[in-house]
Amino acid sequence: MSVYVTTPIFYPNAVPHLGTTYPAIAADIFARWSRSFGEETRFLTGTDEHGRKIEKAAQAEGLAPKPFVDLVSAKFHHLFSLVDIEPSRFIRTTDTDHLEMVAEALRAMRAKGDIYEGTYAGLYCVECETYYKEEELSSGRCPVHQIKAEFLEEACYYFTLSAYRDWLLDLYHQNPEFVRPRARMNEVVEFVKSGLEDLCISRSSVSWGIPLPFARSHVTYVWFDALLNYLTGIGYLGSSDMFARFWPNVVHIIGKDILKFHAVIWPAMLKSLGVAPPKSILAHGFWTADGRKFSKHSGGLLDVAALIDAYGQDPLRYFLFRETPFGLDGNFDEGRLVERNNVELAQGLGNLFQRTVSMLVRYRNGCIPVLPVEREEREALVAQAANRTVESANAHMQEFRFREALESIWEFIAVVNRYTNLLSPWSLADRGADSQLDFCLGTLSEALRYLAALVTPFMPRSGAKIAQRLGLPDAPKLGTIRWGRSPTGRVAELSDHLFPLLEERRPTVDPNLGSSVERDL
Ligand SMILES: [Zn+2]
Repeated sequence: MSVYVTTPIFYPNAVPHLGTTYPAIAADIFARWSRSFGEETRFLTGTDEHGRKIEKAAQAEGLAPKPFVDLVSAKFHHLFSLVDIEPSRFIRTTDTDHLEMVAEALRAMRAKGDIYEGTYAGLYCVECETYYKEEELSSGRCPVHQIKAEFLEEACYYFTLSAYRDWLLDLYHQNPEFVRPRARMNEVVEFVKSGLEDLCISRSSVSWGIPLPFARSHVTYVWFDALLNYLTGIGYLGSSDMFARFWPNVVHIIGKDILKFHAVIWPAMLKSLGVAPPKSILAHGFWTADGRKFSKHSGGLLDVAALIDAYGQDPLRYFLFRETPFGLDGNFDEGRLVERNNVELAQGLGNLFQRTVSMLVRYRNGCIPVLPVEREEREALVAQAANRTVESANAHMQEFRFREALESIWEFIAVVNRYTNLLSPWSLADRGADSQLDFCLGTLSEALRYLAALVTPFMPRSGAKIAQRLGLPDAPKLGTIRWGRSPTGRVAELSDHLFPLLEERRPTVDPNLGSSVERDL
């Protein structure tokens, strides 16, 4: 089975921050997890580079739009690689194949009679790239950005979104899991039930965008352009069979603020193109610090590079998905990150690893004992727990319950720690109970091999480190791992800790920092 996972493509009018990195790490973890089970997996992320907002941000920097987006897109790409996010493709909406994709889609929808000409007048928020109705604004200001909406009137091409209302309601009815969490699905159903208007999909007042192929003085509305990246990214127009292999088994991971674009407009666009709707749309919550949302316009900016400097990639990745269920909002509390690192990573997984390696070096000269085929009862319990953990963590991951998956992995660590204390290998060594000691150390090594496989999608560096110290080239794959197949490697004494203890650093969120975001570019 193939798996296709996407993130929103990010709007590079400011530097990336924790809020934009979060869904990309989620998709990265999910993609690594799927690959570990041997599934053919494609993970797409990238940048959304057209529209008036980009035009304005470029102007403010004294740059033409393209060199400007080249610069900022590169920053996103770099930051993502810093957090070990490894997409199959980092797409940019200025990529040639995407420009062709959008033109082709517009031609096809126009030919089908789903695009017609009209005019539009209304109040427009340039930050949202969206028109608002008067009653949606508060004293004429955008409810999201608190800036004055501008009055725009322009000739415009419309997409016949209203014609898809009944079809959409039927789609939601047939697929109650289409949007997750379920509460968000209900919001969408209510919204569509209340009626849909046709969507203005072109802008004649904006020049930085993809021209309509049938009216070149208009550029494509940035959302219409952006959503199509999900098809470009699997070669919809290409000659390979990639599209057939990956569509529609796709999960779109998105922020809850852009749900309507993905759950209403996007399936209607696909229907117009004769393409099946996506399998699932997963809306995640937002991170706040002291109650403020992290985003380019919140006034608070959490610098991901600084967080990595202070805490490291793996503790940050772990914390984000252990602290808060994926669909809910979370409060980013650095004290909690430090606490989870010190208790769960350093004292939990780190100590288990450390003391097992020390005992192997001390009692067995670094050689991992071969486990006999006949299982001793207590070892069999650890083996069962290991296999059960792979199953239960996978069941959680299939439902994007990242936190619960981690919890089940840490329950296994507790089982292994209890086993160690019960067997007390140090006293077996004192008594010279050699075969029992072999059994115990072999069991612990096997447990660590399983843990390397289980934690790698979340913490690729730590998983690789555990595997390498056990004499394995890489972390084992979850789809093929079997108890007792450990190659008999040699371990070496560790010079460093898997997870160093951390101290809380000074807060990164500087309330005065927000206004300098644009200037930093
Ligand atoms: Zn706005």
